Amino acid sequence: MTDARRPLRFVVIGAGMAGILAVIRLREQGFDDVTVYEKADRLGGTWRENNYPGVACDVPSILYSYSFAPNPEWTHRFSPGAEIQTYLEDVARRFDVERSVTYGEEVVHAEHDGDRWHLRTASGLTDVADVIIAATGVLHHPFVPGLDGLDNFAGDLVHTARWDASVPLAGRRVGIIGTGSSAVQTVGAVVDEVSELALFQRTAQWVLPQDNPAYSEDEKAGFRADPDSQRQLHDEISELFADGFANAVVDADSPILTRIADLCQEHLDTVVDDDLRARLTPDHRAACKRLVISGSFYEAVQRPHARLVDNEIDRIEAGGIRTVDGVLHELDVLVLATGFRVDRFMRPMEAVGPTGTRLSEAWSERPSAYLSMAVPGLPNLFMLNGPNGPVGNFSLIEVAELQMEYALQLVDQIADRTCRLVAPSTEATEAHEVARTEAAGKTVWATGCNSWYLDDRGVPMAWPWTFREFQRRMAAPDMAAYVLTD
Ligand code: NAP
Repeated sequence: MTDARRPLRFVVIGAGMAGILAVIRLREQGFDDVTVYEKADRLGGTWRENNYPGVACDVPSILYSYSFAPNPEWTHRFSPGAEIQTYLEDVARRFDVERSVTYGEEVVHAEHDGDRWHLRTASGLTDVADVIIAATGVLHHPFVPGLDGLDNFAGDLVHTARWDASVPLAGRRVGIIGTGSSAVQTVGAVVDEVSELALFQRTAQWVLPQDNPAYSEDEKAGFRADPDSQRQLHDEISELFADGFANAVVDADSPILTRIADLCQEHLDTVVDDDLRARLTPDHRAACKRLVISGSFYEAVQRPHARLVDNEIDRIEAGGIRTVDGVLHELDVLVLATGFRVDRFMRPMEAVGPTGTRLSEAWSERPSAYLSMAVPGLPNLFMLNGPNGPVGNFSLIEVAELQMEYALQLVDQIADRTCRLVAPSTEATEAHEVARTEAAGKTVWATGCNSWYLDDRGVPMAWPWTFREFQRRMAAPDMAAYVLTD
C-alpha cells in the first residue's frame, strides 16, 4: 500500500497579495514545504510599487480584503495604497508568511524534467518544485510610451508605478501624461502643492463620482469586537457586486450601465466652463475603458493653475512637452501615468514543459490559459490572476481566492496520488478561448474605445461572463478538461 499523501514541494513566484494568499492557504491545507521567490526586497506587489501621491484602491476596502482576514482598522470606505500595504504586511506577519519568502530573487527559468520543476533565478540560485504557483500580478510592468525625445527631458521624470518620493513637487511646474486611474488620483493629490499643473489628455475618460466617508471610531470598535459582522458585510457587498456591476459590464445593454453613464454625465456636468467640459467629454461609452472613480478630479482640473492639454504630444524636449500646435509646455517634473504592459504576466520568465512546450512560444501571439490559470504542456503550474481573467473594477483578492481554492483541488489530486502531473488539455483550452473570444465581443469593453483591456486583435482580455459563472467554474475543476499523468 502507498503512503496516504505524497509530500509536495511548492514554489510561489511573487510575494504580493496573491503570493501571500497562496502561502497561507497551502499551509492551511497541510503543505508546509513552500518557498516564495520575490524579486524585490519587500512584500506587497502592486501596493509596494505604486506609491504615487493619491494612490488608492477604488474597490471598497471591505471587499478588497482577504475573506479570512477582515480588517477593522480601515480608515475609509476606499483605502489609500499605503494602508493596503500595511494591511498586507500585517496579514503576512499574523500568518508568519515571511519565513517562507526569499527576497531579491527573480525566477527567470523553470524547466520540467518529467518529474519536477527545476527553477533558476536571475542570480543563479536553483531550486526544485512539484508545483509552481505563479502569483506575479497583472499591472506590474510599467508601460513607457515611445515619445520622441523622452530621454532629453532635463527635469525630473517619474512613472506613477515607479514613483520617486525624493522628487520635490512643491512650487514646481508638473506635467502628467495620461487620464487613467493613476493619473486622476495623482492630479487630485498634487494639485494643491504644485505651482502649475498640466494634464496631457489623449482620450477623455468618464469619471464616476466617489464618496469616501471615514469609518467612525464606533464603527471600527464594532468591527473589532465582532469580526463576524465585518465578514458578513464583506459577503453582502460581494453579493451586491456579483449581481450588479459584474453583470453589467458583460452585457453592453444592461440598465445598470445606463445608470452608471447617467451618474458620470451628471458628474461631468459639474464642470462649469463649457469649453473645458466639452474637451473633457469622452467619445465612448462609460465603462468601455476601465471606469475611473474620483471625487476630486473635476474640481482639480478647474483650478486656476491647472490646465488640460488635449493637443497631441509632438515630442519631449529638455524644457518640457512640445504639442503639435507648436506650443512648448515648460515643466520641472514630468509624470508618466501611462499604465502597464498588461500582456507580460510571469514573463520574462521562460517555462519549459516535460515534452518541450515553451511558454515563450505558447504565448508568442498573446497570452492565454485555460480558465486563466493553466497552460497545456506546462503541468503543475497554476497562475493566480493570470491572462483573461476577471479584471476591471473587481476585487482581485476575491478573484485570487477563488482561483486558489480551484488550484488546491488539483493539487489534492497530486497529493492523493491520483496523478503526478496535471495540465489542461489543448482541446479544452482552445475551446475555452474560442467561447471566451466570442462572448468578449458582447461586453461593454468592446463597444468602441481603446483600452488596456483589448488585445492586439481588439478582443477584450477579460472574463466575459458573469461573476457568478466565474464562481461556478471555480467551484470544482472539470477533470475532463485535464490531462493527468502518472
Ligand atoms: P491606464 O488606465 O492604462 O491609462 C494610461 C493613460 O496613459 C491613458 O490615459 C492613455 O491614453 C495614456 N497614454 C499612454 N500612452 C500615451 C501616449 N503615448 N501619449 C499620451 N497619452 C498616453 O493606466 P493607469 O491609470 O495606470 O491604470 C491602469 C489600471 O491600473 C487601471 O485601469 C486599474 O485597473 C488599475 N488602477 C487601479 C486603481 C484603483 O484605484 N483601484 C488605481 C490606479 C490604477 P489613452 O486613454 O488615449 O490610451
